[in-house]
Amino acid sequence: MMKPAVIVPEDQPFTLANLSPGRSQRRLALAVALAFLGALFISAGTLSNIQLGRIDAFVPAYGTAIFVNDLITAVLLFNQFAILRSRALLAISSGYLFTALMVIPWMLTFPGLFTPGGLLGAGLQSTHWLYVLQYAGFPTFVIAYVLLKDADPPKQLWDGSVGTTILSSVAISAAVVCAVTVLVIAGDAYLPRVSIDPVHFSTLWLYLASCLILWNALALILLWIRQRSVLDLWLMVVVCAYAIEIYLVSFPGLARFSASWYAGRVFGFVSSILVLFVLLHEITTLYAQLFRAVLAQRREREARLMTGDAVSASIAHEVKQPLGAILASANAGLNWLDRGEPDLDRVGDALRLVVTAGHRADAVIENIRAHFKMGARTRTSLDIDYVIQEALAVVRDKLQTHRVAVQANPNERLPRIRGEQIQLQQVLVNLITNAIDSMATKNGERVLSIRSEVHHSGFVMVSVEDTGKGLEAGAVDRIFNPMFTTKTHGMGMGLSICRSIIEAHEGRLWVTADKGRGAIFHFTVPVDPGSPS
Ligand code: ADP
Repeated sequence: MMKPAVIVPEDQPFTLANLSPGRSQRRLALAVALAFLGALFISAGTLSNIQLGRIDAFVPAYGTAIFVNDLITAVLLFNQFAILRSRALLAISSGYLFTALMVIPWMLTFPGLFTPGGLLGAGLQSTHWLYVLQYAGFPTFVIAYVLLKDADPPKQLWDGSVGTTILSSVAISAAVVCAVTVLVIAGDAYLPRVSIDPVHFSTLWLYLASCLILWNALALILLWIRQRSVLDLWLMVVVCAYAIEIYLVSFPGLARFSASWYAGRVFGFVSSILVLFVLLHEITTLYAQLFRAVLAQRREREARLMTGDAVSASIAHEVKQPLGAILASANAGLNWLDRGEPDLDRVGDALRLVVTAGHRADAVIENIRAHFKMGARTRTSLDIDYVIQEALAVVRDKLQTHRVAVQANPNERLPRIRGEQIQLQQVLVNLITNAIDSMATKNGERVLSIRSEVHHSGFVMVSVEDTGKGLEAGAVDRIFNPMFTTKTHGMGMGLSICRSIIEAHEGRLWVTADKGRGAIFHFTVPVDPGSPS
């Protein structure tokens, strides 16, 4: 009986957005969050009544630092989006971009920074309201990130062009920030009064700050409930720091330039730089791991190519058998002819045996040719659904003989791929033939489903699913080995050759078993870089 389990892991997580945090990561994040809380209590307790006065260089230095940190974080996250095409990552990178851009009007409208009323000629309320929008905006993007992350799988991935999407996101964020700035400045006189004078806050401000803290707390709770990745973990630290910063800036001193107001700002800066450092450190570590994995894979591939010699030796051994049969039958035919009275019936039988053995030898040689022909030079831009239809045409008779129903709807939104048509067709014919063979051994429903979809950035994945007898537990690890077969007349070369062809295309071929209902073979092939996406 087949075990209803995934046999080969489909993906190796190599990005922050899908890598689970280790125990030390979690401990570090917890230690940072606790250190933040400790700093909050110390600052709120000891600094609440101290009014330091205005330090002119502070706001521009703080604003510039936050702008640079958030911008770099946004670039790193947009990169992750380009790799994974996840809508959730698009949301969080746009969030960082938004906060980076919002710092600019906040600084420009800050009273007394460039001119007494702020550079943009804003009134007293504008800077505060821009701050509110910025600090409400970021947790909103975090909430969108969490919800999109757990959406249905088809909704998780972005199908459009990555470059255009990132550019559109930058343009939309910049347009929103400009529009918000213009509206806030123009409507300054009509905005609810959140400050009494350039320094002191009104009571309304405290209500607003409480709402902002609660909004960040909601983002924190959602992240906590659905946390899975390293990115989720550090985003939790960030929203936590946001809430603490808002509290320190607003509550203990009730005024700008109080000691706790400065502490809140320093706090915001430390948390943003810390998270950026962690992200950079994680990314560098992942690159090192990836590099090691690529080296190991290369060694494995070289080893497999070396075993090509052994494979060809064993195939030569296979060819010897039909060749021997041809010689023996031809000799027998000649003997029947050389008799005083030639026995033409027996000569005919001998010739038929020669033809059968000849076909067998031809098939073996064709397999060897396909195995060693790398075909990089003949790769062209292909429509994978066309290749699938061609492969189905080759095996149409066999499908009809075994009464197999086929489900293979073309996916019109797929980009074109780059590959060698005959080789990819051969892979599909092999997989379909195996699927038919497996279903032919079983009564009941016989359905062959072939799906094509976008896999990771740069790849298209094809899945061939059957309702056959499935894979036996003991055979699973060996089915891709040359010469492994469970069929009476099998050669055991099909899957091994398929894997070589797919790996020569820089793709992967693997198998999963589906809850006791047959097997699913998947392979990936690279998207044609020239194809419009
Ligand atoms: P062959 O078809 O000559 O046996 P392959 O390399 O194509 O060689 O397949 C190796 C083995 O993998 C088969 O003998 C069979 O046991 C197993 N196998 C391949 N495809 C399937 C499938 N769709 N369902 C069940 N078993 C399969």
